[in-house]
Amino acid sequence: MKRRSFISRGTLGSLAISMGLLSTSRSMAGPLKTKTKVKRPSKPISICTWRFEKANATCGALLDKGTPALDAVIAGVAVEEENLKNTTVGKGGAPDREGHVTLDACVMDKNGNAGSVAAVENITHVAALARKVMEDTPHVMMVAEGAEQFALANGFKKEDLLTAESEKAWKEWLKTSNYKPIINIENHDTIGMLAMDANGDLSGACTTSGLAYKMRGRVGDSPIIGSGLYIDNEVGGAVATGMGEEVIKSVGSFLIVELMKNGMLPQQACEEAVNRIVTKNPAYTDFQVAYIAMNKAGETGSFCIHPGFTMMKYSDNQNEAIASMSYIKE
Ligand code: ASP
Repeated sequence: MKRRSFISRGTLGSLAISMGLLSTSRSMAGPLKTKTKVKRPSKPISICTWRFEKANATCGALLDKGTPALDAVIAGVAVEEENLKNTTVGKGGAPDREGHVTLDACVMDKNGNAGSVAAVENITHVAALARKVMEDTPHVMMVAEGAEQFALANGFKKEDLLTAESEKAWKEWLKTSNYKPIINIENHDTIGMLAMDANGDLSGACTTSGLAYKMRGRVGDSPIIGSGLYIDNEVGGAVATGMGEEVIKSVGSFLIVELMKNGMLPQQACEEAVNRIVTKNPAYTDFQVAYIAMNKAGETGSFCIHPGFTMMKYSDNQNEAIASMSYIKE
């Protein structure tokens, strides 16, 4: 048995029993709601943030071949992690203001397992690294040098992630050092991907280089389970992109999944999660946040603050770009 399962089944299980936490009457408020049986879609589905067509098609084609959702999302987002032209994810990502490319990523699987890495340098495939943390360590999250060391010990390649183009753009930025993330422009565009496989199981991955020219050490929402990504295989999944600080403060992805659990459709839940942000922070006109979500019936939704966000959706050999509705109208 792996150490993770040992800890959860052994120590926590017996601790809970000895504390009387696991009993047959599960709730003080009475029995939990009876589950209604959800009709599963006939074909696998994959959705992702922004117009990452090839990444989403890669995931979708793997799902069609019977690949489990977790493998498919990690292969899907890897397309952008290794795309040198993409300055917001993986190798080629924009650096922090001191010139270091630092990556954040997380994954979640159908069993509610989670893995995450933050502020990792010199490793391209950080979603795969997050999976390694999930599967082969007793931990959920590893950061910075420790995460890099773990990656190298596990056969990940050490690579310089700063491309000549990203370095040039950063040096240009240094001339003014004007820090102002621009809405919907290539300053921040995380890839978050959710998939339902042929068995009807859900998994998700989220990977990013974070905000361009961020402060050294800044970590966004993307590696934070519940903020950047959340999966509950009985309910659905959600993933975020945009101004990570706002997503963290509202625990956006977990909120969406909970709202779906309580009866909302993915579209309604994404809208409510955006509402929570705009009603609390009057500065919402200056930043973008976008969510996508999918429920167990394969229904999907997306919503954002500013127009200009697109979700990709793959099903039955069709890879569609869907323009998201927004809180601020065109
Ligand atoms: N959410 C990411 C972050 O704050 C950036 C993005 O999605 O654009 O790091």
